[in-house]
Amino acid sequence: MLIGVPKEIKNHEYRIGLTPAATKEFVTHGHEVLIENNAGAAIGFDNEQYIAAGASIVETAEEIFARAEMIIKVKEPQPNECKMLREGQTLYTFLHLAPDPTQTKLLVESGATCIAYETVTDNRNGLPLLAPMSEVAGRMAVQAGAHYLEKAQGGSGTLLGGVPGVAPGKVLVIGGGVVGTNAAKMAIGLGADVTILDRSLTRLRELDDIFANQVKTVYSTIDAIEYYSSKADLVVGAVLIPGAAAPKLLTKEHIANMKEGSVVVDVAIDQGGCFATSKATTHQDPVYIVNGVVHYCVANMPGGVARTSTMALNNATLPFGLALANKGPKKAMLDDIHLLRGLNVHKGKVTYQAVVDALGEEL
Ligand code: NAD
Repeated sequence: MLIGVPKEIKNHEYRIGLTPAATKEFVTHGHEVLIENNAGAAIGFDNEQYIAAGASIVETAEEIFARAEMIIKVKEPQPNECKMLREGQTLYTFLHLAPDPTQTKLLVESGATCIAYETVTDNRNGLPLLAPMSEVAGRMAVQAGAHYLEKAQGGSGTLLGGVPGVAPGKVLVIGGGVVGTNAAKMAIGLGADVTILDRSLTRLRELDDIFANQVKTVYSTIDAIEYYSSKADLVVGAVLIPGAAAPKLLTKEHIANMKEGSVVVDVAIDQGGCFATSKATTHQDPVYIVNGVVHYCVANMPGGVARTSTMALNNATLPFGLALANKGPKKAMLDDIHLLRGLNVHKGKVTYQAVVDALGEEL
């Protein structure tokens, strides 16, 4: 199969659909790979590495879209990219169609087969192509929190790990899923005093097994949120209710009761945020202060560590990508229900129920 990887064109997006290592896997399986000139250069994957992996470099995105049978990307296609897609072509990337009627209409009009990373599933009801980004965001949340606790960054001047003779900082993680578990790992690694709240008792039991007595696990009630947030130096918001906007678990009053110079990192901001005072920010301007509390609410945290994120994403997308290329998209999806669940648009029709439910009349 002829596979094309254009340079990402969304503002400040430096990730790329295929690493040189993943490119080599496709080439070794007998496929041809076209990479747009310098598409990975910003994160240290230069043209020479792709050529060494067996790819060809082409000058323009237009040429890639015109020639490739499958386009592999990271972010949803921008309008000019959607217009270059055509029937018989496969698009394999993040799409996030439910809140995006414009993109959905353009993909429907293209006639292309569009597979969304975020709806591919696994045997444990997980979302394997979304998980690596949650791992990255969870780990970054504590790194960012530790940074903004510094005095010069607006924080209280607290070192999360403390030092001998000085107690460590307190970290509260609300939501103990993929993001929360990775945030907890980082916070424990720094030597912080960590509490995780979750609504799922099963999950709390698993966390207790994973972390033993390195963390406190507490059932997530209004009382618990009120108590632990008032003591915390850093709160990480990491809840998810699948298919719904994030619940506002920290109210304005909770924020007002927090210590001056404490930090809140709302990772769930991409689902609307789980703190009442959250509003989405960017890597260029990541924080703002409400009631003396530093808020970090970057909606695309993994983009900040684009090199690690690209490699983590490729580890997860590669097996499905190879199946699509080796068997052809139709057989690959008929053979694997989990990959089939990734199919969002096909031959002019929306094929994913949640997108139909969300956009209904607008389509
Ligand atoms: P997940 O499904 O693995 O975990 C969510 C957890 O929240 C579950 O354990 C669930 O039981 C728990 N939960 C639900 N309601 C709760 C409540 N009221 N109190 C406490 N816990 C509750 O999800 P995840 O992959 O960890 O993702 C978490 C959030 O992070 C999502 O909103 C996701 O979209 C977001 N995210 C953001 C970025 C970013 O760049 N900002 C990156 C990756 C993920």
